[in-house]
Amino acid sequence: MDGLKIAVVGAGIAGLTAALALQRVGTDVLVLEQEQRPGGVLVTERPGGRWVVEGGPDSWLASDPELATLARELGVAERIIGQQAAGASRWDGRRLGPLAVGEAAKLLGFEVEGSDLRAGFQTFKTGMADIIEALVAALRPGTLRRAGVTAARPTAHGYRLSATGGSAIDVAGMVIALPLFAAARLLLGLDAAVAHSLQEVTYLPSLSVSLAYRREQIGTPLEGTGFLTAPQANDVVRACTFASLKFAGRAPGGHVLLRAFLAWGEGEARSLAHARLTSILKISGEPLWARVFHWPRAIPVYKPGHAERLAVVRERLAAFPPIALCGAGCDGPGVSACVRSARAAAQAVLSRG
Ligand SMILES: Cc1cc2nc3c(=O)[nH]c(=O)nc-3n(C[C@H](O)[C@H](O)[C@H](O)COP(=O)(O)OP(=O)(O)OC[C@H]3O[C@@H](n4cnc5c(N)ncnc54)[C@H](O)[C@@H]3O)c2cc1C
Repeated sequence: MDGLKIAVVGAGIAGLTAALALQRVGTDVLVLEQEQRPGGVLVTERPGGRWVVEGGPDSWLASDPELATLARELGVAERIIGQQAAGASRWDGRRLGPLAVGEAAKLLGFEVEGSDLRAGFQTFKTGMADIIEALVAALRPGTLRRAGVTAARPTAHGYRLSATGGSAIDVAGMVIALPLFAAARLLLGLDAAVAHSLQEVTYLPSLSVSLAYRREQIGTPLEGTGFLTAPQANDVVRACTFASLKFAGRAPGGHVLLRAFLAWGEGEARSLAHARLTSILKISGEPLWARVFHWPRAIPVYKPGHAERLAVVRERLAAFPPIALCGAGCDGPGVSACVRSARAAAQAVLSRG
């Protein structure tokens, strides 16, 4: 594929990883991202340079080496830090009690091995965006272009992509690193059966509120990484991460950063989160500030038969000019799985060259 241009659509962690893998073997890559900010759902804010606030993922399972390997390749492995607190609690509606290892994952609906959980979680010193910033810095200048892709039509030499603003971009092949509802829209004109199949993956919303307090405002001694709410407690706060206990460097000395996960769409998120945490953690006074992150379609949910359906999709796409799909909707929702999926997609497109 030397000298041929490959488009990567979507600049989340999957798209940026795929772009880097293609660039490394001498391919001319163009990453097309509809938003101003690359990173997709991976977003870190650093208010005043003294806090680290995550709007998407806050960490990855240390037992999965994929993201750490990428960090090493990018020269940012020394920025990896492990969790500094262990264990979590369970809010039953009246009190906080200890939560057994594995019970947390079960309450959240994840299937995670106990041994994986015992290995703990890792993150980056100044947040998950560290890896996005390193990826963007490693790409050649001009690789990342702000454009939403609205359609892809096969041509004699690859694809003609229609982008927002009315431009057309000709490429030899493409890696689609989009949420699958967006990928389906893009591929509808190419293969309606593929588009239909991709829509089988639905996405759950996520609403989190990060709240900053002075340490003395919190009346309950905070222990572990946070708490999960038992379903029978029927609380609007489904879980809360004690962000500044879980990882170092999340809040300045003498302060606490909490991140509450709320049931979707229940009133004014900031005041609801503060009111419930006030009651559960015996907080006095108002938060210093709060930051709300809404993701209407955040976490993909795979139905039974997902892997088989995706294999059929990939088989059908093999009939077209080089094209590969990757990201959270395809091969696992975690950030490490996205990196693995992206590397495989880059490889798949290259193998067609
Ligand atoms: C709140 C939350 C918490 C999470 N917590 C964790 C965690 O702790 N650990 C973990 O491992 N995983 C976690 N995850 C999952 C993980 O973060 C995501 O699955 C992963 O980051 C998705 O990456 P991606 O590149 O596949 O997709 P995305 O990040 O969704 O990127 C897709 C990109 O495509 C762009 N795009 C969309 N349509 C178009 C178009 N038509 N043209 C051009 N660009 C387009 C979007 O703007 C976006 O930038 C969490 C996710 C969320 C939302």
